[in-house]
Amino acid sequence: MELSIHEAAKQLGEVFPYAWQGTLEDQTYGSRTVRFVGEASLTGAVVGDAEGFTVTGNAKVTLASVCARCNEPFEEPFAFSFEDRFVKAIFHKEDDETYPFEGEVIDLTQAFMDELFLQLPMVSLCKPDCKGLCPVCGVDLNRFRCSCAEKTRNSAFDALKALSFENKEV
Ligand SMILES: [Zn+2]
Ligand SMILES: [Zn+2]
Repeated sequence: MELSIHEAAKQLGEVFPYAWQGTLEDQTYGSRTVRFVGEASLTGAVVGDAEGFTVTGNAKVTLASVCARCNEPFEEPFAFSFEDRFVKAIFHKEDDETYPFEGEVIDLTQAFMDELFLQLPMVSLCKPDCKGLCPVCGVDLNRFRCSCAEKTRNSAFDALKALSFENKEV
C-alpha cells in the first residue's frame, strides 16, 4: 500500500488524489485476527508541507467474519475513513499521533491497519436480527426450530399449577 509523494513534494500545499486497490494479508491485533476477502480499495488525497504529508483515505474492505450470535462465517463489508500525518523521519517525535517516513514513498499499511482496528465494530452479526443459537440445545435458531423455550415456559407453568394445587390441599 505504497503512495508516491513525488509530485506532492514538489508542490507543497497542493492536494493530490490517489487510489489503491489490492489484496491484504491477515492482521492480528492482540487477541483479534482480521481476515480479508477479495480486494480492498482505498481512495484519498495527499497534501505536503515543510515537515511531512497529511493523507486522507476512504477504505472499503470485505472481512471474513464469524457471527457473534450464531457462529456462522460470513462476508462482512466494512468501510472506514481516516486522516493521518506522516512526518519526515528527521522531524518525527515518538508519539502515537504521527507516522515517520523517509524518501519519496509513504507506506500506508500501518496507518490503514491501525485505523481499521480502531474503527472495527465490537461485534459482527451475520444479520441485524440474527436469532443466534438456542442456549439450551445449541441449534441455530435461524435455520431450525426447537421446543426448548416452550419446555422452559411449560415447566414454569407446571410448577405454578403444582403450587396452586398444594395450596388447595391445605
Ligand atoms: Zn448469526
Ligand atoms: Zn433448543
